[in-house]
Amino acid sequence: MTIRVAVVGAAGRMGSTVCQAVQDAEGLELVARLDVGDRIVPATLGGAQVAVDFTVPDVTEANVHALIEAGVDAVVGTTGWTEESYARVAEHLARPEAAGRAVLIAPNFALSAVLAMGFAARAARYFESVEVIELHHPDKVDAPSGTAAATARAVAAARAEAGLGVSPDATRTDPLGARGAVVDGVHVHAVRLRGLTAHEEVVLGNSGEQLTIRTDCFDRSSFMPGVILAVREVGAQPGLTIGLDRLLDL
Ligand code: NAD
Repeated sequence: MTIRVAVVGAAGRMGSTVCQAVQDAEGLELVARLDVGDRIVPATLGGAQVAVDFTVPDVTEANVHALIEAGVDAVVGTTGWTEESYARVAEHLARPEAAGRAVLIAPNFALSAVLAMGFAARAARYFESVEVIELHHPDKVDAPSGTAAATARAVAAARAEAGLGVSPDATRTDPLGARGAVVDGVHVHAVRLRGLTAHEEVVLGNSGEQLTIRTDCFDRSSFMPGVILAVREVGAQPGLTIGLDRLLDL
């Protein structure tokens, strides 16, 4: 059965790549391309069952509410979501008139990054030490990356569950911040280097052994398999789903 798909932010870098990926995917039909100035109402959505939003942080939440009202499921990659905006969407989805509607919001659609995070969380309990290194192009404005921070939080939660404390570290003085940021007790280091795109390493150490889990995303195409998977699966999970990992059988 064909799934009819609309793309919101269709003129953007991610949106236009998603339009092409939807057109290339078997069983998906691109029925609407919306961008700034277009209202999100049934008349503009072309009978879409699922809409993909890659817009800007200021508008993405309003777009999602409009999509729910229009009776369309949403797959969202736009960044800038907060606990409060997630809660407002969950509340909207819980209303009787939104029964059956589904929204999936994923801060990272790259399968390799999502899997790396999942593998790191699974490995975390078996190692005494762990640190996260994220490496990006020098035009990135925020550090550490949201994915690195999320990785550190997932690793820290797994360690806490296993009864492990913080990684051993005898550092007493670090006036220049050489030990990096600390997220939930896990050190996170950010490298900015011309030529890089988006990369992350989780290094886990025990006495005499080390495990390195590394993900490298070289291109926007790396996000497309995750987006297409989400488009296919979102309808089966009514309510709010956060993170692509929820669709992967990890
Ligand atoms: P972009 O600036 O190239 O595209 C944004 C598009 O949204 C533009 O075409 C713009 O005109 C449009 N837009 C703005 N306001 C709108 C509105 N009210 N209604 C409809 N369209 C509107 O940006 P981009 O590089 O494509 O990134 C888009 C978002 O996706 C950013 O938040 C970025 O951080 C995020 N992103 C997420 C992932 C992921 O894996 N989740 C990956 C890459 C980028």
